[in-house]
Amino acid sequence: MAWFEENYPPTESADDTEVVTPPTPPDSASHDAKLNLTHTPTAAEQRAIDNLKARVVAVDTAIKGLSDDVIYTLADGRVATGAEIKVAWSKTDFTINENSHVYANGGRYGEANWNNGNPEISYNIGALQGYDAFGVAGLNYLILHELSHMTEAQREALAEAYSDGEYSEAERHAHELEANDLARALGETIGLNVVNTVGDGYSTDPISYHNFGEYYGDWYTHFPDTGILP
Ligand SMILES: [Zn+2]
Repeated sequence: MAWFEENYPPTESADDTEVVTPPTPPDSASHDAKLNLTHTPTAAEQRAIDNLKARVVAVDTAIKGLSDDVIYTLADGRVATGAEIKVAWSKTDFTINENSHVYANGGRYGEANWNNGNPEISYNIGALQGYDAFGVAGLNYLILHELSHMTEAQREALAEAYSDGEYSEAERHAHELEANDLARALGETIGLNVVNTVGDGYSTDPISYHNFGEYYGDWYTHFPDTGILP
């Protein structure tokens, strides 16, 4: 039974004219990983699903330790903050679709849907398995890359790229590269490795991030190591 029916079963109103507006279901503590499959997952698919769920828990734990004050400076000069990433993450849910599922972005791999601040990350089962094959670092990347797309900086950049009515290959590449760079830097900050070789790659120089340091309140810049995988 869906959360809604469970918590707000239909009730008889003494006054038929009364209109009851139920509260919005909460979406905070847990991160759903919904299966939208029309077939029973194979053992291999189920493993990838279970591994994703375990990674979501690990990311949740790690990201709670992210300082609100961390500021990531992206290649286009826009910034993303630890605070906004934590808020976006707290509302993020996941859906796993069939390989035949086509997204609004035209792809069959997955999508990051901001969904008016209630982020929904989707993957097709084959794409999930592909990254699961890279182990923990593959799934960390898959989660953090899509989460990076939810930042205001990335959403603004995407709107700007689309503003002339076309999304060129160069624009797409720059946008995905930026998400990769942020995913890598975010992973470094919260202690989660991301896979080294990914579509659209990473910038040679990791993006900078700084935090309000311990040195009497001075700002310092920390450049994460490039060799992230153990
Ligand atoms: Zn992407």
